[in-house]
Amino acid sequence: MVKLNCSATQRAWVEIDLAAVAHNVRQLRQSLAPTTALMAVVKADAYGHGAVTIAQTALQQGATWLGVATIMEGLELREAGIEAPILLLGGTYTHEQVRAIAGGALQPTLCSPKQALIFAEALEAMPYPGALPVHLKLDTGMSRLGTSWTEAVEFARLVDCIPNLQIAGIYSHLATADSPDPTVMGLQQSRFDQAIGQIRAAGIAVPCLHLANSAAALADHALHYDMVRVGLAVYGLYPAVHLRGTIELRPVMQVKARITQVKTIPAGMGVSYGYRFMADRETRLAVVGIGYADGVPRNLSGQMTVLVRGQRIPQIGAITMDQLMLDVNQIPDVQEGEVVTLLGQEGHDRISADDWANNLGTISWEILCGFKHRLPRVAIGELS
Ligand SMILES: *Cc1c(COP(=O)(O)O)cnc(C)c1O
Repeated sequence: MVKLNCSATQRAWVEIDLAAVAHNVRQLRQSLAPTTALMAVVKADAYGHGAVTIAQTALQQGATWLGVATIMEGLELREAGIEAPILLLGGTYTHEQVRAIAGGALQPTLCSPKQALIFAEALEAMPYPGALPVHLKLDTGMSRLGTSWTEAVEFARLVDCIPNLQIAGIYSHLATADSPDPTVMGLQQSRFDQAIGQIRAAGIAVPCLHLANSAAALADHALHYDMVRVGLAVYGLYPAVHLRGTIELRPVMQVKARITQVKTIPAGMGVSYGYRFMADRETRLAVVGIGYADGVPRNLSGQMTVLVRGQRIPQIGAITMDQLMLDVNQIPDVQEGEVVTLLGQEGHDRISADDWANNLGTISWEILCGFKHRLPRVAIGELS
């Protein structure tokens, strides 16, 4: 994470409220039984928030595990000096990947017997002391990574027999945890329980069971098992409307940009590429230094409002690569250099990633991950 003392030199930036991260992690921690571990999922650069800073803050506040999608994401945390256990959620298959995983002390996800054999072979070929801790992934109905729950015992038996692999966890992932209808989730849970029962009956010890993402962690304590894997809620967003009453979360990310020019255009003038907006009267217009190359979706053109001086201001015309335009007739004396809030709070008003997601027919996860690295991440609300 690029950390700057201030945003004064920037045309646009992302503010990361570390006090909000700390608050969210404490709320999550308090909602769990003392014996249930909290994994902060920091894949995709912590959903665009900056992985190292988020990981450090989450660990300070009671998370004890981290989750990443790729080896590089895991190694970035190790290089920053983070020593907490890191689960690699993605699949890996080459000997080079196994070496990198072992070298970085990452805990891989094993999704199939074939993958387990590749790991065994790769570890034999390198000087690796002891056994590598691995998590077995069961597919209980997501139809993504994992071995079918119906073949879980054979899979666990095979890994249990490989001397340089140690089963550190067994897990699965839910397909519909954010739905108010718990039917499919219940079915997945019973398949998971059935598989775990069979593995235990085969005499295989199972140290850490985990099933829940944010939605499941908020929805039902019976889904917590030994650990929950929480992403979205750490960043202060609710996975679904019906889960808003559960714990109090605070959004972490705010996206801001500066006005770079203010002008008046005559009635009848068009604005931006394609003239999607035609001024029906003389219009005070502000240009803002942020665009789709920063992660403001072009499909929001003419569909979004921003906050300026606490007021809702409409965006007009096509959003361009680096800039977008506002109709500032409401505040004609607005000045160049003034800060515009695209996502975040000003006074009593707030624009959230959920608003953008609803507008675009997508989910808040995709909005958060969409902000590009050319926007510096500026930590605010820093903890002492
Ligand atoms: C991304 C991910 C999570 C976190 O999901 P959220 O909905 O953001 O809490 C948990 N588990 C797995 C396997 C994931 O890929």
